[in-house]
Amino acid sequence: MSINTISRLENHPLKEHTTLKIGGPADELYIPEKTADILALGGETTIIGKGSNLLVSSKGVRGKVILTGGLKNHEFPCDTRLKVESGLKSVTVAKILLEKRLSGLEFLIGIPGSIGGAITMNSSAHGQAIEHVIESAEVIDLKTNKIHTLSRDELELSYRNSFVEKNRHFILSAVFNLKKDEYKNIAEKMDFHVDYRKRCHPPLTEPSAGSTFRNPEEGVYVGCLFEELGAKSWKEGGAAVSEKHCNFIINAGNAASIDVSRLMHRMHRRVREEFGYDLIAEIRYVGSPTQEEEEIWSQFTVR
Ligand SMILES: Cc1cc2nc3c(=O)[nH]c(=O)nc-3n(C[C@H](O)[C@H](O)[C@H](O)COP(=O)(O)OP(=O)(O)OC[C@H]3O[C@@H](n4cnc5c(N)ncnc54)[C@H](O)[C@@H]3O)c2cc1C
Repeated sequence: MSINTISRLENHPLKEHTTLKIGGPADELYIPEKTADILALGGETTIIGKGSNLLVSSKGVRGKVILTGGLKNHEFPCDTRLKVESGLKSVTVAKILLEKRLSGLEFLIGIPGSIGGAITMNSSAHGQAIEHVIESAEVIDLKTNKIHTLSRDELELSYRNSFVEKNRHFILSAVFNLKKDEYKNIAEKMDFHVDYRKRCHPPLTEPSAGSTFRNPEEGVYVGCLFEELGAKSWKEGGAAVSEKHCNFIINAGNAASIDVSRLMHRMHRRVREEFGYDLIAEIRYVGSPTQEEEEIWSQFTVR
């Protein structure tokens, strides 16, 4: 199979492709535009959408890395169903749906990732979630290099968790089932999301990867636990807890992955000591960890 619509870069720094602005070089970085390109690459690959949920190792990533941003087509198979390729930005999906007067994914207006990343993480905000409106996804099983369609149930979407991530599948595209609504109603919901983020989250000019840890149980907000612990002043190297939201870690200036990892270690340890919760990371670590990073991350990663 020939690779004809794919860009290939060697030793390319990944920090340009993450919202935290951290990450060493990828040995081989590919930006495919067609399914055939991905099949031709075959096998073990690291997948990065917009890198908005990732801490990428400052030592980089060995082997092949795929950036999904070249997969960005969409179509409407019928009035209320959207089929979209995985690399399209979530914000763009939200804007397309507003123009089409389709409701159900308004929250994507505030999420700086790709739709493939949103499905993998089962992204959500203020009661809306990918799992409520997704119908199916077309995927490549990276172990067999075969294409399958997974139904909503088969995607096993739960709180920042999915079958796709646990079982090494590449999402090519997905179909969403949406509801017709008035432009004004959809725009109002989007304004709510944008306004909430302006008030409560650090601005996008402060590099972060969103929420660092999952909430430990329903109704318990991990940001509030950190706030009670006085985490706002905590720093490790170039990484700092956000002044605006204590569950966000900011790259406050040339932070390395070890700085973020050490800060997460401290946050995790202090919550366990004070509140007894064994927090689970929402951010994903990608690449070649140092031994210290490996030890730290083994404490709060669940696969
Ligand atoms: C400021 C800020 C605010 C945020 N707010 C929210 C929020 O309100 N709600 C929320 O849920 N999240 C939020 N996030 C987190 C993040 O934006 C979402 O999880 C987003 O959907 C991830 O998309 P991505 O393309 O950046 O994925 P990445 O970070 O690139 O990847 C995340 C995971 O998905 C996998 N992946 C990506 N694309 C594919 C694909 N095509 N096939 C298979 N696997 C894939 C990656 O391998 C990785 O495991 C926020 C992040 C930031 C920086």
